Amino acid sequence: MKRTLAILSALCVCCIFSFTQTVAIKAGRLIDPDAGKVLNDQIIVIQDGKFQAVGHDIAAPAGAKVIDLSKMTVLPGLIDCHTHVADGGDAEPINVLQKSASESVLAAIPNARKMLEAGFTTVRDVGVYRALNDIALRDAIAKGYVVGPRMYVAGAYITITGGAGAMTGMAPDIQLPWDLHYGEANSPWEVRQKIRLLAHDGVDVIKLLSTGAVLTHGSNPKSIEFTPEELSAAVDEARNFGLKVAAHAHAAEGIKNAIRAGVASIEHATLIDDEGIALAKQHGTYLDMDIYDEECIQENGRNGTEPKDFLVHDAELGQIQRENFRKAVRAGVKMSFGTDAGVCPYGIDARQFAFMVKYGMTPMQAIQAATSNAADLLGHSDVVGSIKPGKYADVVAVSGDPLQDIGVLEHVQFVMKEGTVYKQ
Ligand SMILES: [Zn+2]
Repeated sequence: MKRTLAILSALCVCCIFSFTQTVAIKAGRLIDPDAGKVLNDQIIVIQDGKFQAVGHDIAAPAGAKVIDLSKMTVLPGLIDCHTHVADGGDAEPINVLQKSASESVLAAIPNARKMLEAGFTTVRDVGVYRALNDIALRDAIAKGYVVGPRMYVAGAYITITGGAGAMTGMAPDIQLPWDLHYGEANSPWEVRQKIRLLAHDGVDVIKLLSTGAVLTHGSNPKSIEFTPEELSAAVDEARNFGLKVAAHAHAAEGIKNAIRAGVASIEHATLIDDEGIALAKQHGTYLDMDIYDEECIQENGRNGTEPKDFLVHDAELGQIQRENFRKAVRAGVKMSFGTDAGVCPYGIDARQFAFMVKYGMTPMQAIQAATSNAADLLGHSDVVGSIKPGKYADVVAVSGDPLQDIGVLEHVQFVMKEGTVYKQ
């Protein structure tokens, strides 16, 4: 039954968004992140929400609706690989307890729109406190009920009890509803059981927490949470369902444990050491380092909205993470673009680009992190990440040249997702 509904909903997307009319975009400059090149005066032909042809010498088909971006730089839709669109945006996690599950996900609707209008046409939403709310939001966007980015979602946090992804900070006799501790697991077999449940629920990725966290009460980012046995069980079980694992990890040992277990990406990677960098390179593990959000944590600290214990956890970690980002870039580790959106306000994700350039990337590398690399990490290079025939017609455009001034990506002026224009 569920499978039938999924197929029906997939078909429904087509009927809502399909265009009978062909669209042709005139792109003055087109960034091709696959080749790391800029192409001048390109025509992009779009039909049924997908790119049909791209090139300099092709003519706009007769009768096509022409969108003139000939004075702009055109890029593939941006991808943020670490967001919390479905719930987040509150510095104090316990505030989740003041909302029903429905209130939480409905409150996410304006945030989803902000993400899309900022140019992020795809996100990997890596964890919700209220389990499965992210699946509901993903499907509502796909059906056209809600405007937002295409979402790949985790369903819940796989975490030890009382760990980085748990709802903590209450008195020990407070009983949580099922959905606030759905992903808790305390042995390799419990980890497998939770992943089996999430796979059945229809998630796109598994998110687990290898070490403690900064933004969790009673947690220590320097402590190890899951054991190597539990991490290996997670990667193995996820693979059985065709799913990749994203591992939150701050502590150096927890990062290395997760890389050795075979996760697809390390989230944060704050205290990664030289051995961890070498291991990431050897295993082809992506580092998804949220090097901008320190600005927001510190800003919240100044205005009194950040819980005090979080500021203690965070002390000095922000700058260490940025220096380690520089080392990883220099070593040639695969890097993706992930901001932890929700820690910072939604829609300002692109501010991280300037920090990525400040800490060692070329502007093209920073763009690749949020396009071709991100698509590769998601396992969906066939449909997103560049402007190529057959992929979803996800397009953003900016005035100016992001290869000269990466900051122009903070002011995206045109957004198309799957052939539909959301900002012009
Ligand atoms: Zn996060």
